Amino acid sequence: MALHIETPLLESRPLSLASGRSVWLKMDVLQPPGSFKIRGVGAACEHHAKNGKRRFVSSSGGNAGIAVAYAGRRLSIPVSVFVPETASDRAKSLIRQEGAEVFVHGASWQEANERALEAIDAESAFIHPFDDPLLWNGHASIVDEVVKAGISFDAVVLSVGGGGLLAGVAEGLTRNGLEKTPIIAVETEGAASLAASVKAGKLTELPAITSIATSLGARKVCERAFEIAQAGPVDCVTVTDRDAVDACVRFLDDHRVVVEPACGAALAVAYAHADRLTRYERILMVVCGGATAPVAQLQAWQAS
Ligand SMILES: *Cc1c(COP(=O)(O)O)cnc(C)c1O
Repeated sequence: MALHIETPLLESRPLSLASGRSVWLKMDVLQPPGSFKIRGVGAACEHHAKNGKRRFVSSSGGNAGIAVAYAGRRLSIPVSVFVPETASDRAKSLIRQEGAEVFVHGASWQEANERALEAIDAESAFIHPFDDPLLWNGHASIVDEVVKAGISFDAVVLSVGGGGLLAGVAEGLTRNGLEKTPIIAVETEGAASLAASVKAGKLTELPAITSIATSLGARKVCERAFEIAQAGPVDCVTVTDRDAVDACVRFLDDHRVVVEPACGAALAVAYAHADRLTRYERILMVVCGGATAPVAQLQAWQAS
């Protein structure tokens, strides 16, 4: 049995009214570790377990690290997660709660990642947070489930960090004969590495991440995500941190579910930027979730 669950798919009255479109929510926020990441991470971990690996290593102090920790516990395989000093206490405690070991190293993800790579031996598998075909294949199950439910849509809205979700959804569309469906790829200002690459016409690295949506904070997207954006149809949208946080708070009232700003960014397209949806009638919105921003944190961001 897969490590992810089949998530609810529901038509959102509040988001449909806000946008003037029919908006369908794929509720991956309800995955046990709190985000869509377990789809790809679970598939990758199962693959490595079958191939005899006896330890999983991650360098994500966010939802990918939480998903690897969850997968390790379910498969009875020990997990080491290397995180930078900037990782939140909340994220570290969620990782430890799954029984994984947390190693804090370095000022930024780059340093934590280097240490993680040094820790890998023949018996351990490194689970990348976004740049791995095994992961994309797992994320593609989002589209399989929607198609199986018999729900049609003429655009997909999703958030982009390193682009693993984008690559996975694109793969899911293709394998269901829906490759012509436009994807609206949403980032926050200060984390818009896909938009920067598309604009420059080449894979571009941001000098720094300045958005609060840390789960979107890859300075450079993976090559596959850039290729998909170039091949199209992909529409890059950038929203502000404020849009993203406001969307989280509104979504909490509307659907009684907490998500991170990384996910609020996508929701903000329906709440605050519905002009980007005028060409479409039925929107599939990937509610990617995220476990690292509790309500008090959302409120503090909103007040600041
Ligand atoms: C990882 C993550 C993203 C971005 O996914 P990528 O595959 O890195 O593009 C968006 N939202 C949440 C909640 C995430 O955990």
